Parts: sequence; C-alpha cells; structure tokens
Amino acid sequence: MKFITKYKSPNYNSRNKSNIQLIIIHYTALRNTKEAITHLCAKEKKVSAHYLISQNGVIYNLVNEKFRAWHAGQSFWQDIVDINSFSIGIELDYNPNGKNNKFTSKMISSLKKLILKIKDKYRINKKNVLAHSDIAPFRKKDPGKYFPWTLLKNDKIILNFKNITKKDSKIIEDWFYKYNIRTKKRIIIFALSLIGYDTRQVYKNLRHYNRLITAYKSRYLTDFTYVNQETVYTNIIKHLFKNLLTKN
Ligand SMILES: [Zn+2]
Repeated sequence: MKFITKYKSPNYNSRNKSNIQLIIIHYTALRNTKEAITHLCAKEKKVSAHYLISQNGVIYNLVNEKFRAWHAGQSFWQDIVDINSFSIGIELDYNPNGKNNKFTSKMISSLKKLILKIKDKYRINKKNVLAHSDIAPFRKKDPGKYFPWTLLKNDKIILNFKNITKKDSKIIEDWFYKYNIRTKKRIIIFALSLIGYDTRQVYKNLRHYNRLITAYKSRYLTDFTYVNQETVYTNIIKHLFKNLLTKN
C-alpha cells in the first residue's frame, strides 16, 4: 500500500500508552486536497488526522500512527472521552457543498484498503469503525448521510445486522422488560448507550435525544425512505444483538 509522506502535520502529541482501538472517519468540508493538506498541517489550526484520502484515492500520511492526532475533539465512545488517544483518524477530501461532493469509487477503494490494514495491525473490532458523528453526535455530521456505509458492510469491514431475526430481537426485548425498561424511547436510549453512544444528556434533554437519533439514522438508516420511531427501535434492537455477539 502506497502513501504520500511528504506532508507532515505538527499537530500531534503522545498517546500516553493508550491502545489503538477505534478508527474514526471524517470529511474535511474543504475545497480540495491541497486546501485540506494546508489546513491539517497548519500549526495554528491545531487539528490533524493520521490520513487524508483524495478524490482520486491517493492516501496522504500526515501523522505517524504511533502519535495522537487531533481529529476527534470533544467526543465519547464506550466511556472513552479522550478519543484521540485511542484512535486513528482518517479524513476524506469531501465537501457536501463543494465540487468534491462525491465519495468516488477510487476514494472508497483506498479507504477500504486502509481500514483493513489498520484493523489487522491493531486487531480493531468491526464495531469500532466509526463516524465522527457517532462519537460527537451533538456537534458533528461527518462523514454524512451520503457516505456509502453499505459498501463497507458488503466487504465485512463494519457490522452488518440485517440478518438478525425476530427471535433474536425478542431475546433482547425480553431482557429489557425483565429489567423494567419498557418504553420504546427508554429502550432506544439504553441500547444506544450499550452500543457506545453518549447518552448522558439524552434522557432529560429532548433536543439532544433528537440529535442522537439523527446521527444514528445518518449512519444506519439511510436505506429507508420513511423512518419512524418503530424503524429506529427495530434496528437498534438488531444492532445491539449483533454487537453483543460480535467478538474480535
Ligand atoms: Zn470530523
């Protein structure tokens, strides 16, 4: 696998011995690769990522994997709040409002190869290939609702829970009922917290709840033309079942 290594970002520090457990996918929301490199390598911007992938699939390695790049910001996953220390960050040269508003097949093909390589190297679980919007649902939208998660799913790079049956879901539902978690909203929130999402503010704050659901939909429910609470609920139950079954 070939990387361009001639551009280096000064924006990194030590991981403090944290294990690499997560892969975070972003988009730059800038105009092009050149602008992205300039931005991610400018000291005063105080941001970076380990990798940047261009529209034509060229991979730039901007920060050595052994260091802590600055891409996640204030984030949360599975009780980890310092996501930067535990993750590899990948930026895509994509802007929903720019000329670079396509996830090209060359870009996605390079991304898939890169993810597989990193997953293998650090034994990262499928469950832990995440969107920036998964770890910061109240602030971030990237890589957005047009990102082709299905292509990653087809190549078994991320979790696929389409094959979970009603019987499987029933096991999860019975478990929630047993612990007296009965309304669909409470089940949704609890399941999302078990999956890894930040639900700390969501119980009390409806706006936060809605944002979290929007983030979830943009990642997992983009195939549906109409999504109601029932669709969200059914999927999250399946998701949790698959999550509990999936070991490395
Ligand atoms: Zn991002």
